[in-house]
Amino acid sequence: MFRIEELRAGYGKIEVLRGVSLYVDEGEIVTVIGPNGAGKSTLLKSIVGLTNIMSGRILLDGVDITGLPTERMVELGISMVPEGSRVFPEMTVYDNLLMGAYSRRARKDLEKGLEEIIDLFPRLGERLHQKAKTLSGGERQALAIGRALLSKPRLLLMDEPSLGLHPRLVLNTFKAIEEINSRGVTILLVEQNVFFSLEISRRGYVLENGVIVLQGSGQELLNNEHVKKAYLSM
Ligand code: ATP
Repeated sequence: MFRIEELRAGYGKIEVLRGVSLYVDEGEIVTVIGPNGAGKSTLLKSIVGLTNIMSGRILLDGVDITGLPTERMVELGISMVPEGSRVFPEMTVYDNLLMGAYSRRARKDLEKGLEEIIDLFPRLGERLHQKAKTLSGGERQALAIGRALLSKPRLLLMDEPSLGLHPRLVLNTFKAIEEINSRGVTILLVEQNVFFSLEISRRGYVLENGVIVLQGSGQELLNNEHVKKAYLSM
């Protein structure tokens, strides 16, 4: 469904990704793990047109979509939950959610989409008319995920959704990701929480210094000696 071929990308003249190739099949959860500064966020930002792409290709259903503007990516069914769950603090929960529904596809099924999100995150339903800045960290993250889901993505890109959350909420986050996936959304996740993310992933990649150094099934990577040593402190 989705493929990246030999992608070189970065900021200005600085190359962060140095020839990254990966693929995501329909229905999969795929995780990219790696240390701070490896280029995980840059990878997701490159997909949605927020970096400087030097070479390589990004393909959706075999069609070259490299470098298309972000709004076009959303129309094609690719949405991102940004790092730090950024939402619009002065806007209500409801208005934040609506920001996700600007594509034609999303507006058509708005009521149903909202119901699905409230079903997934009931606390958002109780807080629809509250300003987003008054939400807790976990609720804000649910809002950022809900907003991305309201654009009806086929492929959801998630940038460290567990970052900064209380351990109890981390587990809920990964459960929510599995639930979203079971409702038919394919997921490409970048995470520092290596254990939980590989546990729920069919496959994973290890990105170090802008290069993929390892790939395999979630279980294979969890059992890999390098992953154990470098990422699981075992
Ligand atoms: P982390 O887990 O810490 O978020 P990461 O793997 O997501 O790390 P990136 O955020 O992709 O890493 O950063 C990779 C490199 O790109 C870093 O050296 C960073 O300084 C650089 N970088 C990131 N954003 C920019 C930017 N807007 N302009 C210039 N350089 C940037």
